[in-house]
Amino acid sequence: KITKLKKLIQVNPKTVDGKKIGVLANIGNDLDLKNAIYNGANGVGLFRTEFLYMNMSSFPSEEFQFNTYRRTAKKLGEKPLTIRTLDIGGDKPLSYYKFKKEDNPFLGLRAIRFSLLEKDIFKIQLRAILRASIYGDIKIMLPLISQVEEVYLVKNILKECMNELDKQKISYSPNIEIGIMSETPSSVFLAKDLLKIVDFISIGTNDLNQYTLALDRGNDTIIDFYSDINPSILRCIKILIDESHRFNKQISMCGALAGNLKVTKLLLGLGLDNFSVVPSKILEVKKIIEETDINLIKEKSISVINESTNKELLDKLKEL
Ligand code: PEP
Ligand code: MG
Repeated sequence: KITKLKKLIQVNPKTVDGKKIGVLANIGNDLDLKNAIYNGANGVGLFRTEFLYMNMSSFPSEEFQFNTYRRTAKKLGEKPLTIRTLDIGGDKPLSYYKFKKEDNPFLGLRAIRFSLLEKDIFKIQLRAILRASIYGDIKIMLPLISQVEEVYLVKNILKECMNELDKQKISYSPNIEIGIMSETPSSVFLAKDLLKIVDFISIGTNDLNQYTLALDRGNDTIIDFYSDINPSILRCIKILIDESHRFNKQISMCGALAGNLKVTKLLLGLGLDNFSVVPSKILEVKKIIEETDINLIKEKSISVINESTNKELLDKLKEL
């Protein structure tokens, strides 16, 4: 079985009916990157930069971040490197930053909100990403976008960084792609508005599920209520796929659901273009893609997500 999977390392996967699908990697460090490349990832769909910050005793400098992003981009060559800007707060603390006590940290100072409120820290990261962007196919990805205004604010800050770099005669890719993670129900309702102003959407199913169901993803007491294979999140996913395609944009998923082999076929049937998964799942996802004929399962996939309960949905899923 393992040797069969290994044959897929060099394969750029295609479905039986000929649709090319990207299988990219989620990484947080150099070891993950090594495993991603070893397993034949088509690029990095999620670089979790928070680990850069969490492993330090103070905010990482522009130089340190630049070196990290450049090194990573160079190792990937032509393949894309999607850098998610700092996703801190909620369950991810920083030892050297004092967060005010919050009653609802997951609804509080988190992710993009942190970056927008701590603009100087954000600019250091954006400058580092911009400087690294000439060494590969780097894209910027914003976590936990919930309102259109946030994207405009980021774009203004990015422009400021570009102007500063221009003045210093430091080069960068002016057309660097900028995308968002869809992790909030509002981002699903606003998908068409967001798609007008961003280059891509990647679905963060861990948070999207948590916020859609209003159910803490890390709380053991309510674990019986928690499943990320349920009608509401799958319908959110379908909306995001259809809206992206209406705007002629590819859509990716980088939450854990992308690496759940139980739903790989279903996600293909719903139209997902790119999967970003932990490196250890890359080959298995590729294998299912190579075996799937999307035309044969399209209609059935819709009927799966139109089931009302988790159980009915799971039963129908078995028929795919
Ligand atoms: C997600 O929410 O699905 C995601 C990929 O981000 P994280 O798990 O880091 O919150
Ligand atoms: Mg998330």
